[in-house]
Amino acid sequence: MTIHDSPDLAAQVTADDQLWPDFLAICDCGGRLAGTESEARAFALVEARAEAATGVKGRSIPVPYGGWRAKRASLKLPDGAEAPCHALVRSIATPPGGLTAEVVDLGRGTPEEFAAHAGDLEGRIALVRHELMFVAGTIHRRRKYLAAREAGAVGFLIAGPLPGQLVAGSSGRQDGAGIPAAGIAPEAAAALRRTARGWPRATLTIETEERPAETRTLLFEMPGWSDEWVVLSAHVDGHDGGESAMDNASGLAVVLATARALAPQVKGFRRGVRLAFFSVEEWALTGSAQYVASLTADECLRIALNVNLDSVGGSPNLAALTSGFAGVEPFLLGIAETSSIALRTVRPLMQNSDHANFALAGIPAIRLVAGFDDPRANLRYVLTPADTRDKVATDELTRSAVLATAIVSAACNEDSPAVAGWRSAVFR
Ligand SMILES: [Zn+2]
Repeated sequence: MTIHDSPDLAAQVTADDQLWPDFLAICDCGGRLAGTESEARAFALVEARAEAATGVKGRSIPVPYGGWRAKRASLKLPDGAEAPCHALVRSIATPPGGLTAEVVDLGRGTPEEFAAHAGDLEGRIALVRHELMFVAGTIHRRRKYLAAREAGAVGFLIAGPLPGQLVAGSSGRQDGAGIPAAGIAPEAAAALRRTARGWPRATLTIETEERPAETRTLLFEMPGWSDEWVVLSAHVDGHDGGESAMDNASGLAVVLATARALAPQVKGFRRGVRLAFFSVEEWALTGSAQYVASLTADECLRIALNVNLDSVGGSPNLAALTSGFAGVEPFLLGIAETSSIALRTVRPLMQNSDHANFALAGIPAIRLVAGFDDPRANLRYVLTPADTRDKVATDELTRSAVLATAIVSAACNEDSPAVAGWRSAVFR
C-alpha cells in the first residue's frame, strides 16, 4: 500500500471535528465582498486557522486592484414602480439622474439572440438571464455583458431565476470604459416585457465609488523532499448581501481540513503542499492572475498540479473541471475510485475560478466543484443572497475533504514521468 491510498487519511479527515465549525465561522464573517471589513475578517480567520493547521507562518503578497463600491442602485420600471437591483461588481455609474432608455429583452442572451437583435441594441439597455454556472454550455455573464457593449447597448440588466432574489456577480470590467450593469429579480424582468406599443422604458440609477485598493494572496508552504509543489487553492472573497457559503466558505473550510490531515506527513512526500488563499476572484480572477504572472517559468514547471476548491458543498455530487488536461483525468478517477467517491471529469477549460490562470500558464489545474450539471442542486443559489449555510450538508464537506486530501497526497507522491504526462496532455 502506498502512502497516498492509506485509509488513515480518509478516516482522519472524516473524524475532523473542526471542518464544520470552520465553515460556520467563515460564513459568520459575512459575504466577504473584496474591500469590505467582512473580507478582512475572513482573511484574519483563515490565516489563524491555516497557521494552526500547518504549523507554519503565512506569507502575504499584496494584490493591488481597482477598488470599487456601489453606493446606490435602483431601477424604475415602466409603470413608475421602483424595483430592487444590485450593481454588478465594477459597474460604472450612471449619470446622477439615472440612465433612461428602452429595454431589449434577449431572453437567455445567447450569441444567436444577440445576433438576431443586432439592430435593436444601439442606445438601449440589454436584458439577459442569469444561468446556472455549473453546467456545460453555460454562457458566462461577462460574455453577455461584452456582447451587449459591442452591440452598442448603453446598459445591462441580468435577471435571476429565483423569485424575489437579485443576482450578484462581476461585470468583468477592469478599468475605464463600460456600461452600467445590474442584477434584478425575475419579477422586474417580467415587468420589462416588450408589448405591442414597443420596447418598455426604464431608468437605471447606479452610484459608485472607485479608488485604488489592495488586498492580498495568502500562502502557506509545507515543503516535501524535492523542490516541487502541489498548489491547493481557494478564494476568500465573495459577494455582499449574504454569506457566500457554498461559494466559497465551503472551499476554504475544506482546504483547512486537508491541510490539517496532510501537515504531519508532507515532509515525507516527494512534493510539498502550498496553500494559496486568493482574493478578488469574483473580480475577474485578479488575485490568482497576479500570482501566476509573478511566477518564473521554472517556478511554473515545478508546480505539478493546482487543485482549486470552489463551491464544494451544496450537492453530494462532485466534478473535477480538468481545464483541457486530459492526461490528469485517469489519475483523478483512480483516486476517486480508491476513495469510493463518485467523480465526473469535465474537460473544457472553464474560466470560472482561479484554476484557469494556472491552466493558461500551462500548469495542470483542476477545479473541484459540487453539483455540476444538476439544475436542482443548491448550487443554483450561488451569487444570490440565498447562498447560505443551510444549503450545505456536513457530509458534503466531509466527502469533498476526503477526496481533496486523497488527490493532493497522491499528486505529491506520484512519480515524475506520470506527472510529466499531466502537463503534456494539453497539447494532444
Ligand atoms: Zn467561486
